[in-house]
Amino acid sequence: MHRSEITIDLGALRRNVRTLLRTLDGSRLWAVVKADGYGHGAIDVAGAALGAGATALCVATIPEGLALRNEYRTERIVVLGPAGSNREVAQARAAGLELAIADGEIPEGVRVHLKLDTGMGRYGLAELPPPPAEVVGLMTHLATADSDPAFAREQIERFQAATDEFRHLTRHAANSAAALRLPESRFDAARCGVALYGLSPFNTDPVEDGLEPVLSWQTSLAQVKRLEPGQSTGYGRRFVAESATWIGIVPVGYGDGFRRDLTGTEVRVAGEPRRVVGTVSMDSFAVELDRELPVGTPVVLLGHGVLAEAHARVADTINYELVCGIESGPLRARRTVIDA
Ligand SMILES: *Cc1c(COP(=O)(O)O)cnc(C)c1O
Repeated sequence: MHRSEITIDLGALRRNVRTLLRTLDGSRLWAVVKADGYGHGAIDVAGAALGAGATALCVATIPEGLALRNEYRTERIVVLGPAGSNREVAQARAAGLELAIADGEIPEGVRVHLKLDTGMGRYGLAELPPPPAEVVGLMTHLATADSDPAFAREQIERFQAATDEFRHLTRHAANSAAALRLPESRFDAARCGVALYGLSPFNTDPVEDGLEPVLSWQTSLAQVKRLEPGQSTGYGRRFVAESATWIGIVPVGYGDGFRRDLTGTEVRVAGEPRRVVGTVSMDSFAVELDRELPVGTPVVLLGHGVLAEAHARVADTINYELVCGIESGPLRARRTVIDA
């Protein structure tokens, strides 16, 4: 038996795509499916995103692009990260992938996007050379679209000024946060990742932007016990019962991607919010109950009202990192794709 169940709702993903398309108001939507579709399964989410109106797929590496190419023979696939070895570039050429170029060396016979560093201070050219024939797109990446719109606008202005004479090329700058909040960032296409999955780029409730979480994660209580005053649960005795306390043991831990720094967050047990107490172990953690419940009582770790954003605040991280860390290999969670 699997110790937990991950459900990917492609119907929710399609609704998020349509919400983004309405917001983009004419700019194209490119679906970012790197890191195995932010832990959701790149092949499945790519198909749903394309079906709902996305016009290209974006990944971080050439091997990710090649894996998608096996499934999607004719769609545009753009590799956002730095080009790999010569061997990888040759494979990208043969597979018809498009490459982002951040260092000026433009390989022959591959369609490329020149990446301009307008303030991210990571990959990218300081200045745009006259684009040769291989160039189909011009791009930049924003450092603060979710946190400092004023700086993001400066970046957009620099990009606008540097690329204005090349309007015949596809210009793209926006990630999810910019697509949602900075209309001037939209240009010809927006590269949206996190919002597709119904996660908020602002780490707030995604419903504020009309987005629905795509991933849910469920399990059930494996054991229920009563701690007497002074008894504890888990490593290090981080939780010691002050009075008689019912606790439930949940058979999921940091080995599954339920991080060790999630102590104190809330999951739902029998539909009610319950606090995670004590140290999260590799394969289990404890929740505080208000009464005795039967073994097998459903526990929701994510989805159905349990937000990745709330977990992320407790763990002092972002929802992106949480979902990328969920381990859905065959020995951990069972992954089911639905279309609700
Ligand atoms: C990951 C990535 C995106 C998508 O960002 P989200 O915040 O998930 O929408 C867009 N552009 C580039 C260059 C990226 O690396």
